[in-house]
Amino acid sequence: MIDCGEGAQLSFMRHRLSFRRLRHIFLTHLHGDHVFGLPGLIGTIALNGTGGDLTIHTFQDGAEQLSSIFKYFCRDTPFDIRFNIIKPEEKVILETKSLTVRTIPLDHRVPAVGYVFEEKAGDRHIRPDMTRFHEVPLYMMKRIKAGEDFIKPDGTVIPNDILTSPPSPPLSYAHISDTAYMKNLAAKIGPVSLLFHETTYLEEHKSLAAPRGHSTARQAAMVARDAGAKALLTGHYSSRYKDDSLFKKEALEIFPNVILNNEGLVTVIK
Ligand SMILES: [Zn+2]
Repeated sequence: MIDCGEGAQLSFMRHRLSFRRLRHIFLTHLHGDHVFGLPGLIGTIALNGTGGDLTIHTFQDGAEQLSSIFKYFCRDTPFDIRFNIIKPEEKVILETKSLTVRTIPLDHRVPAVGYVFEEKAGDRHIRPDMTRFHEVPLYMMKRIKAGEDFIKPDGTVIPNDILTSPPSPPLSYAHISDTAYMKNLAAKIGPVSLLFHETTYLEEHKSLAAPRGHSTARQAAMVARDAGAKALLTGHYSSRYKDDSLFKKEALEIFPNVILNNEGLVTVIK
């Protein structure tokens, strides 16, 4: 989960998401609209009796403030809350078997980071017709998936590319909120599969965006274009606008693949 606005636990339930699957919360910065949902969410998870670990990635002062709130309001939680202290810098902050997560410093009114989630390259795909034909034993499959050739009992070598097809290209997602437009940001993000970049304002209010540490839809689209992202997801709209579709319209003038974000939107990263 990235950030935790007010009512997060209600959204969780409304969209039938599983509390049990929640293991990491990545906070971008310590403004209320990004963290005030945490006590409610933690309290609800505690009531549901979910065990296990929950790691909150945040700055040192965030960890201090939140842990004192949890200590008072969320006693007797059946799970461990851990803090992973991050800084506003470019750094890999989490690495698992299948994924790396790195931070990118942003330009906001308080210290803030964006996150880039990158899948690691997976195994090659077995071609079952070919492994059957060449009588590859089951115990060899893991090594074949990893790229090894198969040597038959009579010494014949079956090259790996006959037995497998290439792995699916790794997917990636960047989450950039909140930030003023940063010219050098695109290079740090790279060609991700999906870029969420805040679009708080439209160009007509560009003069408000930078001093408040926010971006326009056009600026977000420039970042998507310059990063080589495959798709741009909009969001974090100022309430001054009555028609959200204007964000998409403006971004489309710069970048061709724009997904208009709305409450409850489910989008597939591809
Ligand atoms: Zn903010």
